[in-house]
Amino acid sequence: QREDAAFRERVPASLSLAGRARRTMPGGVPTPWMAGFYRTPVLWVSHGRGPSFTDVDGNTYLDFNVGDVSSVLGYAHPRLTEVIGAQAARGVQLFLPVEAAFGVCEQLRLRFGLPQWQFTLSATTANTEALRIARFATGRQGVLLFGGKYHGQLQETLWSAEGPADRLVPESTGLEAPPPGLAVVDFNDLAAAERVLRRERTAAVLIEGVLTNCGTVLPDAGFLPGLREACTRTGTLLVMDETHTQFDLYGGAVRHYAVTPDLVTGGKGIAGGIPIGVHGMTDAVADVVGSNIADELGSTVGLALGGTLFANALSLACAEVVLTELMTPAEHERTARLGGLLADGIETAVRSRGLDWRAHRFGARSGYCLLPELPRNAREAHLGTDPLFADTRRVFFANRGVWDAISSSGPHVGFAHEEADVATYLGVLDDFLTEMCA
Ligand code: PLP
Repeated sequence: QREDAAFRERVPASLSLAGRARRTMPGGVPTPWMAGFYRTPVLWVSHGRGPSFTDVDGNTYLDFNVGDVSSVLGYAHPRLTEVIGAQAARGVQLFLPVEAAFGVCEQLRLRFGLPQWQFTLSATTANTEALRIARFATGRQGVLLFGGKYHGQLQETLWSAEGPADRLVPESTGLEAPPPGLAVVDFNDLAAAERVLRRERTAAVLIEGVLTNCGTVLPDAGFLPGLREACTRTGTLLVMDETHTQFDLYGGAVRHYAVTPDLVTGGKGIAGGIPIGVHGMTDAVADVVGSNIADELGSTVGLALGGTLFANALSLACAEVVLTELMTPAEHERTARLGGLLADGIETAVRSRGLDWRAHRFGARSGYCLLPELPRNAREAHLGTDPLFADTRRVFFANRGVWDAISSSGPHVGFAHEEADVATYLGVLDDFLTEMCA
């Protein structure tokens, strides 16, 4: 409570804007996720630079939330600023293809191995299109998901399995009945996934190779290869969601675990924070999509894809430069090394106080697991979290100029961070644990 009060005292201008916002925006925020910082008032920001941002009261925060990897490049990167300016002078939205698309497709092919790509405005819309393509290509309706997943606010994925009978329950009001053939099983439970796929009603398995929205849950050695094999055997398309993991390691989970999916989806920070979504596919899937696009020129066929601002010139120009020049394999190696240092530091700090906890880790991603063993699925991951610990930590960090992860993911190293920033984070963690254990 002392920390909560101290935080409120630091942000009078934010408090005043919050009051004003309640008159024009439901809940006093332009979109719900901006209210996500539990217990404290919404922080209104002025600007960002490098790894830090500054609020309207002039407080600067070293950012380890990195916009849930949407601002993982860092703020106001000079090269990105230059590209945005140059593209603004040429037109940001032309509603016709621009050549930057070739460079982006090539960079994505290098990372994920898939030859053909399409563009949307967000990972949510990329997943929407990928599932629609999978249904069209297979003539089936079902989708198999894994507990603890998050793939965006699309109807098909806002369902969880609960209770002993794994009844499907909606994650939002306004969803009446689960879409036909939808199933949710535990991550790493290959036998359960195979049971669903054997019914041959499933169009797509949609999976993050590493679960990142309930802590970080790594796949067992045989899990992803087993899933790939079961998909091939049953004619199901394997869709890997790389929205988060693509920023943890170069080529994400697809490359790290050497999986060959039928489709890959992504978005968030690919264009340095300019809205973009991407989905890639094999030549076989692209043939199905492409023939439909060709048909659409003359007649109407039922595969609805696309959007007015999709593949706009600004997002493609930014993505080309970000992927080619800024998020290089060497830079990914550097952020993954710093992520490892951060995870090691977290583990050392908690263990030196006799707490038998672990640190989540996958490349540049880290986090807190309040258990002696790392989880293998979302149910186990849930046991290793404590909202009070997380929220108290965030307020303590904010009062000391560090913006800790807001989502269930842990602190994430971005491309603007240096080793000294990791040391700063760990220094504040040390003070926090000292107070917590006192
Ligand atoms: N996929 C994953 C794995 C995500 O974590 C998210 C968002 O957190 C999405 C998709 C949706 O991303 P967006 O909200 O940018 O559409």
